[in-house]
Amino acid sequence: MASFDLIVVGAGPGGYVAAIRGAQLGLNTAVVEKDPAGLGGTCLRRGCIPAKTWLETAHRYEQMASLKEYGIAGVDTTNMKPDLATLVARKNKIVLKNGKGVEFLMKKNKVTVLKGVGKLLGGGKVEVEGEVHEAKKIILATGSVPRELPGLESDGKRVLNSDHLLDIQDVPQHLVILGAGAIGVEFASVFSRLGSKITLVEMMDTLIPLEDADLGVELAKIFARTYKMDCRVKTKIASIERQEDKVVCHLEGEKPGIVEGSHLLVAVGRTPLTSGVGLEATKAVVDRGCVVVDEFMQTGEPDLYAIGDIVRTPWLAHVASDEGIVAAEHAAKSLGKDVHPHPVNYDRIPSCTYCDPEVGCVGMTEAQAKAKGKDVITGAFPFMPLAKANIVGEPHGFLKIVADKQYGEILGIHIIGPKATELIASSVALLGGEYTVEELIHTMYPHPTLNEAFPEAARAVYGRALNM
Ligand code: FAD
Repeated sequence: MASFDLIVVGAGPGGYVAAIRGAQLGLNTAVVEKDPAGLGGTCLRRGCIPAKTWLETAHRYEQMASLKEYGIAGVDTTNMKPDLATLVARKNKIVLKNGKGVEFLMKKNKVTVLKGVGKLLGGGKVEVEGEVHEAKKIILATGSVPRELPGLESDGKRVLNSDHLLDIQDVPQHLVILGAGAIGVEFASVFSRLGSKITLVEMMDTLIPLEDADLGVELAKIFARTYKMDCRVKTKIASIERQEDKVVCHLEGEKPGIVEGSHLLVAVGRTPLTSGVGLEATKAVVDRGCVVVDEFMQTGEPDLYAIGDIVRTPWLAHVASDEGIVAAEHAAKSLGKDVHPHPVNYDRIPSCTYCDPEVGCVGMTEAQAKAKGKDVITGAFPFMPLAKANIVGEPHGFLKIVADKQYGEILGIHIIGPKATELIASSVALLGGEYTVEELIHTMYPHPTLNEAFPEAARAVYGRALNM
């Protein structure tokens, strides 16, 4: 039996970051990972990184169509077609390279990697492939898997989940997508640009239903106008018929009917991996599949923490990593190390969707602010009049500010349009009460940039936008 100060179960962006932080603070640390392919978790192997690799190819592919318009002559694109085998090989190469990077970080920080399935035994013990290890502190970071729906279970042939689609070798002729959250709209954006016909089915009122409703409405308009997608909100797939060469989907709701797709992607969220990991041997409380934690990620079991996609906080890689840091620092502090853990501030989590147009948000939506009883004022500025948006060829979307009417405090920023995911990153610091709409109006932004939308949207809050 080996003994450690800290064992982390699961080496995704939550687990491996927690392990590094624990080791940095002087804890004798081990990380357990069951994936024979290596470390990195969903984010590196089946999520963020491979999905963005597909999006990059789709983006470049689309740009090839407008070369002449941009003054690039002499390139014959008539026989251009997607080469998915090369795309998937490139994706695998990037995953491999970054996976080696994570392995290197484990070695550099002297974190012991235990390969195999980890199981909690209670009382500070973890079993890995029949061997029992002991730890003063344990962090559970087992992540999540694609959620399956009864009757619509993925089969890897006609009915797919996101894992399957990342390795597909032929462009689906007609991809029906159930679920217009981040994963659904990103794949819609990939395959529409690579030539698939897309039908997007969403049960809620708007696409990207977790984001400000105005953005979902705008995204549906742009998807329909630019990519000819058939977007059906307030609609669900009641049943399907799996056939050899197609999947017949029976839709119910606002836009009912029968849609025959070559493939169906079920993108209705993720299921936290909390069963089969030994939680029943502990006092940790599991509520509707998620482990219940306090602000320092502590569970009901003494010395056991839980982080990332297995707790009911936004399921994003950067959230998992920050939760990993909080848990590791709290564990180290309680083992006598001089460190001051800061709980994650869940009011300021940036969320990005890398579809085209991109979406980037931070803070409260207009509806959330109103639901909290705030007296809300909003302003939005479209990218269309901005010179830079026209130069980059994406004069669509807008930047919306949600603010408190009395003091002008910025409560939320919501962007749909060019480089929205980069723009939102730089605006996270505008939230938190120190910055008001008036101060944003008096902040100078360089010209010509997409960032000029910030002071303009701030002016729009008070009806004084200059370019509108
Ligand atoms: P995971 O990354 O799921 O890692 C958990 C690890 O634990 C896995 O390696 C698993 O093999 C291992 N494990 C599980 N059980 C055991 C066990 N018993 N023993 C040992 N090991 C075990 N988030 C973003 O922030 N940005 C994005 O752009 C983004 N895009 C995404 C695109 C897709 C297609 C998907 C599916 C997800 C995306 N996400 C994105 C979400 C992001 O991937 C997750 O929120 C993040 O990976 C969660 O990290 P985690 O460490 O909690 O779990």
